[in-house]
This record gives sequence, C-alpha cells and structure tokens, in this order.
Amino acid sequence: MEKDQDSIINFPHFTPSARARWKQIPLRAQEDILAAVWCAECNKGTSMNLSEAHIKGGFLILKGICQRCGHDLVRSVEPED
Ligand SMILES: [Zn+2]
Repeated sequence: MEKDQDSIINFPHFTPSARARWKQIPLRAQEDILAAVWCAECNKGTSMNLSEAHIKGGFLILKGICQRCGHDLVRSVEPED
C-alpha cells in the first residue's frame, strides 16, 4: 500500500485518473475547493467532507457530504489550461 503523506485526505474512493488530477492541484487550492462548496440544504457555503471522485467530460467531479448537515454535495473542477 502506498501512502499519501503529502495530502490532506486519504483518497477514499478516487478513480486513478481523478486521483492523478487531484494530486496536481496545490494543497492550498485543494483546501479552497473543499472549503467553498454550496450546500442547497444549508442554503449557504459550506465545507465538504470529500469521499469520492472521478473524471467526466474532462472535469474532475468531487463528491462528498456537507460538514454541517450531511447533505450530499458535488463539486466539479474545470480542466486546467
Ligand atoms: Zn449542508
């Protein structure tokens, strides 16, 4: 088993391509992405507990739950230039 000590998360359910894309994102940007997700249930911005990710149409699709209410959240990250 390979360890990811350079990451803030443990990649629970990432596809290999999503994992590779995620690791290209600087740690600070990863934190910003996870700390600025809109929750329709809370009706405000929240932090996401990331649980899985995959690539779709060139976008990195992150799935997780709201840290406040546990509602399912999805956040897409645009392809890099
Ligand atoms: Zn919420």
